[in-house]
Amino acid sequence: SAEPTQTPRPKAVAITFDDGPSTVNTPKILATLKKYNAHATFFVVGERVASGADVLKQEIEQGCEIANHSWDHANLSKLSMKKVNKQFNKTAKAVKEATGGYEVDLLRPPYGAISDKMRKKFEHPMVIWSIDTLDWKYLNAKKEIKLIKKEVSDGDIILMHDIHAPTVKTVEKIIPWLIENGYDVLTVSELMERKGIKMKDGKVYASGK
Ligand code: ZN
Repeated sequence: SAEPTQTPRPKAVAITFDDGPSTVNTPKILATLKKYNAHATFFVVGERVASGADVLKQEIEQGCEIANHSWDHANLSKLSMKKVNKQFNKTAKAVKEATGGYEVDLLRPPYGAISDKMRKKFEHPMVIWSIDTLDWKYLNAKKEIKLIKKEVSDGDIILMHDIHAPTVKTVEKIIPWLIENGYDVLTVSELMERKGIKMKDGKVYASGK
């Protein structure tokens, strides 16, 4: 997979996309990431995976990371651990089958909803975010770009959704801006590695700060 840069830029962020894959908008986002040699983490919903298999393969091809956003966007904090694990494992299996062997490790619980049980017993790291673009609500690239430019700093994990058309425009504008402003645009795992953070099972990570 392609490295984001030869020489690391002084700062780094992870861009993350939830709720996909979308066969319409995710490929457009991937084209922008490719253009700028940038990476992202895609937290996919299991029930969408089979129909988006080609999109997932392209994500891997470009050095992006695939991660787990439950099977059907359930509020995992309200479920038993047996059901939480089923939501994770069913999605992990679908990704593995769709991609010919890719193993997902990270979970982003829908709504960022995490129970005490999950913190004690869940056997994967959990990733939330430090910047919420509210793209699903605004559906307005200008507003989202303004928000990111105002809030971003080194180590942030930025939350977006690759199923919405305005998000495609936000990505087209914000990736070159981030690069011009000294940021490497990485996957969550790459950001954590860059920051010397070793992610542990059952722990929740909001940023690389
Ligand atoms: Zn979601």
